Amino acid sequence: MRTRVVPILALASALLAPPAGVNAQEPPDLSKAEIKVTHVAGNIYMLEGSDAGNIAASVGEDGIVLVDDEYAPLAEKIAAALKGLGVTDKPVRFIINTHYHFDHTGGNLPFADAGATLIAHDNVRTRLASGGTAGTGGSMHFEEVKRAQGALPVITFDRDVSVHLNGEDIRALHYPAGHTDGDAVIFFSKANVVHMGDDYVQYGFPFIDVRSGGSVRGMIAACEATLAAVPADVKIIPGHGAVSNPAEVREYVQMLKDTSAVVEKALRAGRTLDQMKEDKILARWSAKYSNDFIDTNSFIDTLYYSLTNQRDAPFRKHN
Ligand SMILES: [Zn+2]
Repeated sequence: MRTRVVPILALASALLAPPAGVNAQEPPDLSKAEIKVTHVAGNIYMLEGSDAGNIAASVGEDGIVLVDDEYAPLAEKIAAALKGLGVTDKPVRFIINTHYHFDHTGGNLPFADAGATLIAHDNVRTRLASGGTAGTGGSMHFEEVKRAQGALPVITFDRDVSVHLNGEDIRALHYPAGHTDGDAVIFFSKANVVHMGDDYVQYGFPFIDVRSGGSVRGMIAACEATLAAVPADVKIIPGHGAVSNPAEVREYVQMLKDTSAVVEKALRAGRTLDQMKEDKILARWSAKYSNDFIDTNSFIDTLYYSLTNQRDAPFRKHN
């Protein structure tokens, strides 16, 4: 199956720090974006728009709880789509962020202004408050802007937190150093749904934000721990992509393990990063997993910097 190119990747590419002499691209026009709503199970829905991070929504008699909130300009459309379900007229009461990246937290400010309470891991608040550089450790990097005070989570947690509404125990559980250092996987145990944030994505080789404390080993651990904690018939919402299942996550984890093993072997053999790219050591996986955001060489960068624990490696010039 060919990897689908996800437009968030286009946006992220637009925000990549351009090499000298190249102008930054304009961000895409979101005015025409439409919100697609998918019923997942029970009172849990998945919302997609402009291919930012997937939103999970618990919609019921107590109101609405969101997991992630896409981009600020889409907030009104998201609110209208939720109201259009005809389940409740009550507002969004709580939002849990799976991690700090702009395509998952852009709506924090407008929703908080409208009365929602923002919840996230401690490191999400820290990174939203400071801004900083996100990236693989190699040439793929972009700036996360410092956010307004009103966009910051007001409730933070270290290990886990639960929101008890709509007859559901919505539990956010932190897994360290995966996609970033502030990831949470969100479990809706009654509806049998889990939102994995960007620890699991379907656009191919994943972006692992090594610059923000992410690591491939942590991502593997988060996926395996999640799989061990859920029933076989669970519905899995990825950070990007369609509603999924444990078999697909297992295949993804296997790819992460196999590609890591190849890079570790090359490291043991004393191969340099450039030699690994010249040797095309991940060629086996390119057709299925290389994508416009994280191509095969970017993923070699990711694994190299992650496995050698170089979080602040100097940026390498674009070719
Ligand atoms: Zn992300």
